[in-house]
Amino acid sequence: MAYDRSVRLWFFPALTVACFGACGAILPRPAGSGEEQGGGPEVVEEEPNPVAGPDAEPPVEPEAPPVPAGLDADAVLALTPDECFTKLDEWEVPYERVDDAPATIDAPIRLTGPLAGVTYAVPWTVTNHHDVLDCRLALALAEWSVLLHERGVVEVRIYSFYRAGSRGGVTSRRAQGQPSQHSYGLAIDAGWFVKADGDVLSVLDDWVDPGTEVTCGGSVDAADGAALLDLYCSAWSARLFHVQLSPAHNQEHENHFHLDVGGGGGGWYLD
Ligand SMILES: [Zn+2]
Repeated sequence: MAYDRSVRLWFFPALTVACFGACGAILPRPAGSGEEQGGGPEVVEEEPNPVAGPDAEPPVEPEAPPVPAGLDADAVLALTPDECFTKLDEWEVPYERVDDAPATIDAPIRLTGPLAGVTYAVPWTVTNHHDVLDCRLALALAEWSVLLHERGVVEVRIYSFYRAGSRGGVTSRRAQGQPSQHSYGLAIDAGWFVKADGDVLSVLDDWVDPGTEVTCGGSVDAADGAALLDLYCSAWSARLFHVQLSPAHNQEHENHFHLDVGGGGGGWYLD
């Protein structure tokens, strides 16, 4: 696991330059290849960029961490509903507003089509608004979808976005028993990743724990396990979610990745 705030020292100058230049009418595309699995916050935490600051130039070295040409989780969380809907429209995210959604969701929507070629679906009859999500989570997923699609994913099968009565307490920054981000439509539990060739990567069946203290600082040999780890860590390297929990976290997460916006208590958490 890893907490980190220092990553913003290099991320925000880079993000600002990239976003003002590139945030347009299509889904944002990442600037890096995503190959640097250790290129996320854990590396920056150990070796902070000495030149980072308000006037620092974005990293240009080939080995620099990948930076999405969009919004990180902090920027997404700060959007008002109107600002978020405007951004969804700019990025051409297919969605519909949900009038009868639980009141705990600030900007409730349903996705009505794929994001950057990736469909998000509950693989059984949907009940209890499990397919409803907040607009801001949709933005984060739109960015992640670009990374997933580059890795051959065309569908993510989920347990739920919104889930009533869901409780958190999984991070040390959150008191046990407080509502989880699922209660606000700001979390996703992803269980399966379907590739364009029909292969299905299952978190329950294919996850291999890298065994390192920092989950995204490790690697595994098994092909499917390595592919899953890469999908998972692509989101972390791009700072798209505040909290990411894998099967490495505990047995309750043995069959899905939990990713949320806003659940880090003002920080970031990976396990
Ligand atoms: Zn969850």
